[in-house]
Amino acid sequence: MMSNSEYFIRLEDQYGAHNYHPLDVVLTRGEGVWVYDVDGNKYLDCLSAYSALNQGHNHPKIRQAMIDQLDKITLTSRAFRNDQLGPFYKKLSDVTGYEMSLPMNSGAEAVETAIKVARKWAYVVKGVPRYEADIIVAEGNFHGRTTTIISFSSIEFYKHDFGPFTPGFPSVPYGDLDAIKAAITPNTAAIMLEPLQGENGVIVPPEGYLKAVKSLCEENNILFIADEIQTGLGRTGALFASQHEGVRPDITIIGKALSGGFYPISAVLADQAILGLLEPGEHGSTFGGSPLAAAVAVAALEVIEEENLVENARKMGQYIMEYLEEIPKKNIRDIRGKGLLIGVELKHERGGARRFAEALQKQGILVKETHEHILRLAPPLTIDKSTVDWMLPVLRDVLLMD
Ligand SMILES: *Cc1c(COP(=O)(O)O)cnc(C)c1O
Repeated sequence: MMSNSEYFIRLEDQYGAHNYHPLDVVLTRGEGVWVYDVDGNKYLDCLSAYSALNQGHNHPKIRQAMIDQLDKITLTSRAFRNDQLGPFYKKLSDVTGYEMSLPMNSGAEAVETAIKVARKWAYVVKGVPRYEADIIVAEGNFHGRTTTIISFSSIEFYKHDFGPFTPGFPSVPYGDLDAIKAAITPNTAAIMLEPLQGENGVIVPPEGYLKAVKSLCEENNILFIADEIQTGLGRTGALFASQHEGVRPDITIIGKALSGGFYPISAVLADQAILGLLEPGEHGSTFGGSPLAAAVAVAALEVIEEENLVENARKMGQYIMEYLEEIPKKNIRDIRGKGLLIGVELKHERGGARRFAEALQKQGILVKETHEHILRLAPPLTIDKSTVDWMLPVLRDVLLMD
């Protein structure tokens, strides 16, 4: 007999594009750190939708804010004003310390927005000859999936069938300051980095790297753009991962947890001198900054503050890391990360991370492999110590399997 899961898996496989390779678990309900599948099994979510669920599934406060707004108005377009957008801008400014923001929907759109703004700044403020502005990026980057963004991916598979590519993005090894120095020209508009590379396998740059990049930017009149879509809003045990090195980027890009998983909401954060350059009509999005998005995002930001999620990520992350480091290195090659963004790289001769993810699924923990040999542990930041104490021995057993 077919399980419920098999039925839904067949529908997905037959009628949907196969642009993902999901674990065969069909979820139907989520609450806090827990999710439930259509066959009645319960799992700890250790992926958090790539950090979109920092506040946990179905957070009651965000849910209520969404329902309240659904009863009023959901979309005005930016052709008209709405009474949620202004308070959302102000909240973002109060929480992040940036003077302004520009709301979009997906993370990739916010990255595209930052690229446009940085290019405009290069032409209008820095005086770079028109259409010659460069944005330096790092190898192993992940900034999304649009045609321009994959143009500067270093991962062949993400791009090989999808050119021609957008020019203007010299790429340097991540963590290598001298390579950035060598790549800077008078036409460099910006350097865009993830302060910690998530998709690339939780790669933490050398201590002091971000600070040194920021200084280079200041010396050369270049913008520093931090893509904090995955690392931001508490994930690494600081509101922004850049803050671990005391860096305030000129532009910070956020998304994912900005809605706590309820709605696609992203934003570009910067000061007036940069975001103020955009004029009406130069950029936009029908849904970006909708009253529904604004109401949801304000509640999602409040939850991060009210529940001290940044502090909890730092504490629980440190606790998990200390435990993991004690596990015998039968399968483990490296453990790294910050806060609740932890990568466990497995020895490459041990058959790949996928089979460990599948073994964990059987034990009630959902994780996803990233690249071939890395497991990413990133539970909601609401996770408490007793849940962590349940999770760790289960994880240990799987990490010691044959
Ligand atoms: C997920 C992610 C993106 C893209 O966000 P989407 O909402 O999937 O478009 C961009 N940058 C980083 C660092 C991400 O983790």
